[in-house]
Amino acid sequence: MTRQFFLAGVACLALVGSSPALPAELSAANQAKVLANVQAYAPRMSEVALKIWEMPELGYLETKTTALLQSELKKAGFTIEAGVAGMPTSFIARRGSKDGPVIAILAEMDSLPGLSQAATPERKPIPGVISGHACGHNLFGSGSVAAAIAVKKWLEETGTKGQLRVYGTPAEEGGGGKDYMVQAGLFKDVDVDANLRRVRAPVWTAEETAFDEKLRTTLVGDNLPPISSAHEIQKYRVNGQKYSSTDSGDVSWVTPLATLNTATWVPGTAAHSWQATATGGMGIGIKAAVVAAKTLALTAAQLYQSSETIAAAKAEFEKSRGPNFVYKSLAGSRKPPLDYRKTSSGVAAADAAPG
Ligand SMILES: [Zn+2]
Repeated sequence: MTRQFFLAGVACLALVGSSPALPAELSAANQAKVLANVQAYAPRMSEVALKIWEMPELGYLETKTTALLQSELKKAGFTIEAGVAGMPTSFIARRGSKDGPVIAILAEMDSLPGLSQAATPERKPIPGVISGHACGHNLFGSGSVAAAIAVKKWLEETGTKGQLRVYGTPAEEGGGGKDYMVQAGLFKDVDVDANLRRVRAPVWTAEETAFDEKLRTTLVGDNLPPISSAHEIQKYRVNGQKYSSTDSGDVSWVTPLATLNTATWVPGTAAHSWQATATGGMGIGIKAAVVAAKTLALTAAQLYQSSETIAAAKAEFEKSRGPNFVYKSLAGSRKPPLDYRKTSSGVAAADAAPG
């Protein structure tokens, strides 16, 4: 993962099915339908993203955030199963039948302690706020929900068979929420893959570019990537391995998993920094989350229509794991550490170490 571009945004897709080399393209008409569905929800996605950004909640304490995401999905017609795997703020939203591919989109939601910050290009903590979305999970959660709502509508419009799920995964920052969902067997019947193309990079306004330029003066390092790199689309890489701290890794051992990054941050921004919090609460972050939602939605739609792509993803997955693979959680038999962000007095900790 390129930290500076880690778009927390909407990243992981768990889907079933696939083809190796050149999967069948989604038709132009279907692409247009999917993109229109994302665009129709984009204004509401923006509101949801900013609302979550304004009420940052730490790992396993994301009660208002998970309620908001669940409410959006419920309104769109998803069935919600809340509090799975012993974690009150987790959920699985489902829509559609299981007589086709089962595709899952992951949605993270927790914030980071000590990274309260206004949406300004200079350091400005918000008084009384002890954490901030310095890893973009406000965009990740809302963007994933946007993609899911768009795909669900497309499934119905086209009569396509298959089930779509959203996994609300709490406490990514050091709490290992996905680990416990994997241990509970919640990904057993899911297959994953993604083919990330055909979506335009975000275009910034003059104000957003000025914000970028000012914020860049606060970044450390001699070799910062150029601003233009935020608008480049990189090639999809198959079977890549990267080293970073995320519990998505556990999911990738039990089902094919695809990840994407979009430029929610100014190029050169470090994850878990006040600069990351700042751009997650304004246009730069929001636009990148819309791009991520479109990419996820197109990817999911393409998978529903391409059993070859799903088969290929599964074959590549099995080959990567190797024969006789057995998943073992590093957490062992430990229960979810639901209080890890609380102090002894029971309130959220401002200085806990980020994961
Ligand atoms: Zn993070």
